[in-house]
Amino acid sequence: MIITGKITLKKGKEVSIQRFHPWIFSGAIQKMEGEVVDGCWVEVNDFKGKTLGFGHYQNGSIAVRMLSFDQAAPTDTFWETKLRKALNVRHASGLPSEVTNAFRLTHAEGDGVPGLVIDYYDGVLIVQAHSAGMHNDRHEIAAALKLVLPGLTAVFYKSQGSLPGKVRDNKEEYLLGLGAVPHVVVENKYRFLIDWEEGQKTGFFLDQRENRKLLGDFSKGKNVLNTFCYTGGFSVYALHAGAKLVHSVDASQKAIDLTRKNIELNGFSPELHECFAIDTFDFMKDKQDLYDVIILDPPAFAKHRDARHQAVRGYQRLNAETMKVIRPGGILFTFSCSQVVDRQLFYDTIVSAAIQAGRQIKVLHHLSQPADHPVSIFHPEGEYLKGLVLYVE
Ligand code: SAH
Repeated sequence: MIITGKITLKKGKEVSIQRFHPWIFSGAIQKMEGEVVDGCWVEVNDFKGKTLGFGHYQNGSIAVRMLSFDQAAPTDTFWETKLRKALNVRHASGLPSEVTNAFRLTHAEGDGVPGLVIDYYDGVLIVQAHSAGMHNDRHEIAAALKLVLPGLTAVFYKSQGSLPGKVRDNKEEYLLGLGAVPHVVVENKYRFLIDWEEGQKTGFFLDQRENRKLLGDFSKGKNVLNTFCYTGGFSVYALHAGAKLVHSVDASQKAIDLTRKNIELNGFSPELHECFAIDTFDFMKDKQDLYDVIILDPPAFAKHRDARHQAVRGYQRLNAETMKVIRPGGILFTFSCSQVVDRQLFYDTIVSAAIQAGRQIKVLHHLSQPADHPVSIFHPEGEYLKGLVLYVE
């Protein structure tokens, strides 16, 4: 890659970079030299002119996303090295395996590649850029993927929904090879259809893998309600674990169709499972004492800090309504994937919902994201998925 510009920080603003925090806010910048445009590579210096590292520039509140904290400029093997390191982290937790061939290969800041998310679906990689710099570098990244995963069959670029407005009009395309959708993967032995062309995000929510597995422990012989079900991931696990009946709810008809296909693909008869294309809040209204186990996995109610208050009210209402209707002795799996609602705030919101519902509640598990969604210890903002397993007396 070519480094086109240089950024010098204000005195004292080097400290967080020396501690490997990857973001430079626009207010920390003293001087910009050379060509500093959206998506370019820049060298970052401290106020004395000492090199702190290199990163992607983008005009905005986060002005630079650091990709290297070395003094030497990145070389041609930069992407290959980054991707190999990321793959090693997955290998360390046994991914991929005979029972699971779908996983997240890079999780942005958690893998030292802010702005880059790559999901692996049995030989097909879906690249999602969240910054102009990653968009510009997509072909180099695809070429490096080929070196790191020689068996891959396709690399699909899908960033329409994740890029900032200015660069968003770029179409979705295959960067390498071709893949046929839907594509079947296995997760903990269970089969799922992935449609990265039509589906939400990269086509599947890999971050719930461990939590779906845990749901199995609670599902045998139970009436299970899976709300915000998308591909029906939790529903498939509940059925495999021997649930008596499973109901899946999603506001999107496409999601419901996909859920139905996944239930079929796993060989379950339609008598055990029913789908409802409806808003969860409406569905929940007249469901008193019908379900023993309920999953609440809504989309991020807040994507930005200014929407946080509204989001907290949304979580509070959803959880309180659910706590009111669940059968005595019921189990509630409740989640938030809003980055701006941290673990403590989510917990406090659930306490407030419990008070409103007037039920006795015990916390059985604190849940999070799995090992293929790592969090850099220097970037705690990377922890986004929070969940609780609750026993409702
Ligand atoms: N639990 C899923 C992921 C959920 S993604 C999994 O394990 O894969 C969030 C889903 O919520 C999306 O499919 C979206 O269509 C759905 N959704 C959003 N708002 C909704 C609402 N008000 N009621 C029901 N579903 C909703």
